Amino acid sequence: MVEQVALDNIAIVLCRPFHPGNIGSAARAMKTMGLRDLRLVTPHQFPDPQAETMACGAVDVLERAGVFASLPEALADCSLVVGLSARTRNLAVEARGPRQVAEELAGLARQHKVALVFGNETYGLSNEELGYCQALVHIPANPEYSSLNLAAAVQVMCYELRTASLAGEESEATTELATQDALEGYFQHLEQVLVQVGFLDPASPGRMMPRLRRLYARARLEPTELNILRGILTETQRSLSKAAADNVAGSKVD
Ligand code: SAH
Repeated sequence: MVEQVALDNIAIVLCRPFHPGNIGSAARAMKTMGLRDLRLVTPHQFPDPQAETMACGAVDVLERAGVFASLPEALADCSLVVGLSARTRNLAVEARGPRQVAEELAGLARQHKVALVFGNETYGLSNEELGYCQALVHIPANPEYSSLNLAAAVQVMCYELRTASLAGEESEATTELATQDALEGYFQHLEQVLVQVGFLDPASPGRMMPRLRRLYARARLEPTELNILRGILTETQRSLSKAAADNVAGSKVD
């Protein structure tokens, strides 16, 4: 039996979609496979009659779609974020196949919100957008022409997710995962501390933060683990302030 709860916990996020028709087709692709949570990040044109035409019987998915000003806002409640890339070269994280990822997602989605993030029709996902993704999927298409239409890529993934959730054999996910919102708070705190201790130069940060994000993404952090990491940062800041205060006091004595 299909687990509707799991399918309801899977968000399809379209970043900067240009053609409203693609938004409608994506909504239809989702509904045919039982998914309903569509999120749009700065769509070029939405709502739009073309979107409704292409959605056909899935207009309800369009009507319920969330529109967000930025990708982190769209992902705030998600515990695992997977990006879809038409390209395989020059990716910081190795891309996996749709079936393998769909199985992991279907299992996790029984208890957590998860998201699949799709890029703009012309540019795909930007490096910044890729930075929010903890894993990447590439649909192994014709290597000479591997770029699917946006809604077609959504259809492939939704089909795989439905199939994986139908199989229902995934091991029960028992651990809780930190949300994207909590992770973002951690990354901001970490960056602040790295600058304070002189490890990161804000004038030339290089790829330090994206690399650290990638490292933490592999760990699938739990909320309690994230609390420990936040605690370390807070203590580091406290002892830095204390050392600075002691210095001032010491210089007054002299
Ligand atoms: N010209 C863009 C492709 C855009 S297609 C580029 O070269 O990156 C729009 C979106 O559909 C992509 O950003 C990706 O999210 C998805 N997509 C298209 N083909 C895909 C494939 N073979 N594997 C994974 N995602 C794909």
